[in-house]
Amino acid sequence: MLFQKCKMKHANISLFVPHAGCPHQCSFCNQKTISGSVKQLTPEDVAKTLKQAVEDNVNPETTEIAFFGGSFTAIEREYMIALLEETVPYVKNGSFYGIRVSTRPDAIDEEVLSVLKKYGVTSIELGAQSTDDSVLLLNRRGHTRDDIIKASKLIKQMGFSLGLQMMTGLLGDTPEKSLKTAEDIISLKPDTVRIYPTIVLEGTYLAESFKNGTYTPQTVEEAVDLCSVLLKRFYDNGINVIRLGLHSGGNVEEGYIAGPYHPAFGELCESAIYLKEAINLLQDKYPLENTNLCSLTKKKNITIYVNDRELSKMIGQKSSNKIALKRLGWEATVKGMKTLKQYEIIVE
Ligand code: SF4
Repeated sequence: MLFQKCKMKHANISLFVPHAGCPHQCSFCNQKTISGSVKQLTPEDVAKTLKQAVEDNVNPETTEIAFFGGSFTAIEREYMIALLEETVPYVKNGSFYGIRVSTRPDAIDEEVLSVLKKYGVTSIELGAQSTDDSVLLLNRRGHTRDDIIKASKLIKQMGFSLGLQMMTGLLGDTPEKSLKTAEDIISLKPDTVRIYPTIVLEGTYLAESFKNGTYTPQTVEEAVDLCSVLLKRFYDNGINVIRLGLHSGGNVEEGYIAGPYHPAFGELCESAIYLKEAINLLQDKYPLENTNLCSLTKKKNITIYVNDRELSKMIGQKSSNKIALKRLGWEATVKGMKTLKQYEIIVE
């Protein structure tokens, strides 16, 4: 159980049900490693955690109770209800603004959604991972693209907030397939999205595949390059990406074998967006130099303006964006301008 602040303004009281309800283990998944939770959650654990959260004065207007780490709607019904029952008094007295659960696309139907509604569940997150059927099959997901589409539509029709999770770099995946998945997700109009580049964790099928040479994970650079494009696509379509990359903590670091894990992965992607935006603008502004960027010997001094809160992302970790621009012939000074929106830049 974790008290976890999400990137957006809300916070979750996260209750982990590792692998509960999962019909099998997907190629990449080791929830015991991801959540750091081994023991099966009991109704008493739920009651204790929520009581503690209230005593800690969590903000009822921004805090959700969140059941993560398994296939909540596929959990044995009696156990699922026993967990939800413990939330009833807290939801009724307004201690939290809702309940969020994560589950599989093929574990959604009208009947189970009615039960969730009755208990005050407000948000449902589906592990979509990919909308490419061959990728889903290779990664032992056990559901299809159609299941994702049907479940997403039903969740929205029944008035829940919809969250969709996608992954990049899965077995059999390509950047093109990930881009197509993002476009499919955009067309489903979710309220939130999480993007996870695939990490190889101990105790998974992917770990075996990596060790026997049949799976090669993305590098951090490849994952940042792709995920920054996905992030911008979602942003441009008004979809809130609430997580990019696995959380540090849990047992991820201990279970890590290979793959593009970075504790500040989201920030690397945002910096990559700023760098691309700056280069595009500069190429538009100085078309002549554009034909011969690398041969510039004399540096051109420029000032790049971004929103005040985005300065560090424009500069990049260890000034990486400024260094990249310098290599292309521009000596950049970065300044804040309150009126600019996220990812918007002006170059002078
Ligand atoms: S990815 Fe989801 S459905 Fe698959 S094993 Fe993990 S928790 Fe279960």
